[in-house]
Amino acid sequence: MHFFECVLFILMFAQVIVDILRAEVDRIFEYSFDDDYGINLGSRVVVPFGSKVIEGIVIGIKETSEYQPEKIKKILRVLEETPALTDETLKLSEYVSKTCFVTRASALRLFLPVEMRKGKIKEKFKKFVELNCETDVDNAVLSLSKTAVKQKDFLFYLQENGKSDYTKMCELFGNQAIKSVEKKGFVLITEEKILRSPYKDLEGLKKEIKLTEKQNEVINGITNTDKTTSLLFGVTGSGKTEVYLELIDREIKKGKSAIMLVPEISLTPQMLKQLRSRFGENAAILHSGLSAGERFDEWWRIRQKEAKIVIGARSAIFAPLENIGIIIIDEEHDGSYISETSPRYTTVDIAKFRAKYNDAKLVLGSATPSVESFLLAKSGEYNLERLPDRINKKPLPNIEVVDMRKEIRHGNNSPFSVSLKAELEECLNKKNQAIIFLNQRGYSRSVICTECGHVVKCPSCDVSLTYHKEDESLLCHYCGAKFKMVESCPECGSTFLRYGGFGTERVVLELKKLFPNANILRMDKDTTQNKEGHFKILNDFSQRKADILVGTQMIAKGHDFPFVTLVGILDADMSLHFSDFKSHERTFQLLTQVAGRSGRADEAGKVVLQTYSPEHPVLMQAIRYDYEGFFEQENSVRSTTGFPPYSDIIRVLISGVNEENTINVVKSLYTELEMFKNKNADKFIFFGCMKSPIKKLQNKFRYQVLMRIKANNRELLNEIFSISNKYDNRSVSVYMELNPNNLS
Ligand code: ADP
Ligand code: ZN
Ligand code: ZN
Repeated sequence: MHFFECVLFILMFAQVIVDILRAEVDRIFEYSFDDDYGINLGSRVVVPFGSKVIEGIVIGIKETSEYQPEKIKKILRVLEETPALTDETLKLSEYVSKTCFVTRASALRLFLPVEMRKGKIKEKFKKFVELNCETDVDNAVLSLSKTAVKQKDFLFYLQENGKSDYTKMCELFGNQAIKSVEKKGFVLITEEKILRSPYKDLEGLKKEIKLTEKQNEVINGITNTDKTTSLLFGVTGSGKTEVYLELIDREIKKGKSAIMLVPEISLTPQMLKQLRSRFGENAAILHSGLSAGERFDEWWRIRQKEAKIVIGARSAIFAPLENIGIIIIDEEHDGSYISETSPRYTTVDIAKFRAKYNDAKLVLGSATPSVESFLLAKSGEYNLERLPDRINKKPLPNIEVVDMRKEIRHGNNSPFSVSLKAELEECLNKKNQAIIFLNQRGYSRSVICTECGHVVKCPSCDVSLTYHKEDESLLCHYCGAKFKMVESCPECGSTFLRYGGFGTERVVLELKKLFPNANILRMDKDTTQNKEGHFKILNDFSQRKADILVGTQMIAKGHDFPFVTLVGILDADMSLHFSDFKSHERTFQLLTQVAGRSGRADEAGKVVLQTYSPEHPVLMQAIRYDYEGFFEQENSVRSTTGFPPYSDIIRVLISGVNEENTINVVKSLYTELEMFKNKNADKFIFFGCMKSPIKKLQNKFRYQVLMRIKANNRELLNEIFSISNKYDNRSVSVYMELNPNNLS
């Protein structure tokens, strides 16, 4: 009998999504591979595509293919042993692609660190050198020639210091010496993977905290409810963070993993600190501010299950965790949880998908829940838990309202009212800390000619330029363009220019004049350009290296500074008068959040709120911390006027450099959409076409078709999307958004 030794490869077929965003290639392509190739569902692979070679992701594996074998190309390589995507994240990417109206390739990119694509970043290795375990240094040295001094020194060094950094050894003893002893077999050179870990020096102090009865009740409520989602409605300083930590702890003990989201990158180090003190290396951080290497290494630590707790801002919801036990979204009402760039996903929707897939808990926490969430909690869809009191048992800080119109009438043109000045003085005398909040960075919001009234505008956008004194520049906050500060009016040449409105930079200068001895920190987009920027400012302030912190909304959220006893809100109406249905909600939330920074420890806090419309109902509700009063009022307005959550807002934005072309597209698209609307008239609350509030941005003219559709008619969206999508071309872009954060 003959035995044939034969290795039989079975030919398999992979369904691949190639990493190209264009809609024309938004299809599944089939490739073949031998079954011993280590290719799995979710593997990243390299495939031939047309005349190119590109990366793709395997989303399906089959044993047969309908295509003729000779037409199917082979997968060239698999990029990693561990598939980058899991069954869950593949399904989730499918869901994102369908609900956010983007190509599959675009949805898949959400799940990978940017730099991983195209192999832009790899694992980092470092070389070490150590004595071979059989080496007896004394004998080895004897065997060396008399002149080999460096080799001898090197061996003695290793004897004393053990394994050492290869590069450092080369510096100390020279490459030659090291090579020689290696050749003789006395030492081993090894390579080890180095982890680039963010915030290495961040060490947490473990606070020994005994949870209050109320906190325990809430924890049990969330653990025992049969509802997936719980809304934790707790005032600022009520100890929500401790509740989150305990909930995470319980899941980790069960062998599960956890995601914890905070609204701002600046809040992640603070949270990481608490997680590290409790869970050590089991906590990983993911956000866009990390260096490419750090992000890559943290991502793989999570993917390889070396870290089971992920903390991050919005995008960390896509972390490659498996077996999730709990997802926590802190400050759930925050606008940053809705992505502003494509794919425009809503974080809570993604979280709900993952919670359902993993049979996990979803916890939404806030002192000022979004109208939508609170409605769902009241209707019984969510489990509602409350923490109505501050941990320190102190009442919420008293808010004094100052009418700035009166101040101006009395000749006070400074950004600070008489009352705020007095409070600041007292606060500084007592060696406490103060926070000054205003939502405008730069020196002045605009530069205005006093002769002709001209406002200096961005040449590419229909918005005024902001003056930044630090580098004498004018900056467009929409397109980022930067210009030299003008010396005279570009319209009439007059040199009499006036600054319109105060920005953080100007407020700091004014404060320095008033309180020359105070240390002042400023935190806004300009002072936090690099990753450490946020961290350093917040850290300095919490270590009381400064007395006053001036900042934009970045300082409003979540920070816990025990020595802050005064908060000044310079312009409370700023967001009140935007023609946007969410402006009241946002104002209420922002004011409550900022005010909540005051009086968090032993000493009671105070808030001075400056406004030009002191009788506005939203302000009245905010100063009483009357969230439920606010909710009732706002909810009834939304319900009678048909705004979300009682409807969905759809905006189709049409923009192009050539205004005539753009208008032509607007006209045809509008006509087609109108026909669609007429067929479904009973479901539409509003349908209209107009110039966008910002008529021009980056030289593109902007128009929009706005629609409001009664809630629960999402099936109409696909149709609207496919109609709109047809008009999208190279010169005129057509982009559809569902419930956008911003309608500017
Ligand atoms: P929130 O997130 O609701 O604004 P935090 O969780 O930041 O509130 O809590 C406010 C402060 O109270 C923090 O300094 C926190 O350490 C402290 N704290 C929370 N729970 C307790 C507790 N059970 N005992 C003592 N201090 C607590
Ligand atoms: Zn002028
Ligand atoms: Zn601009």
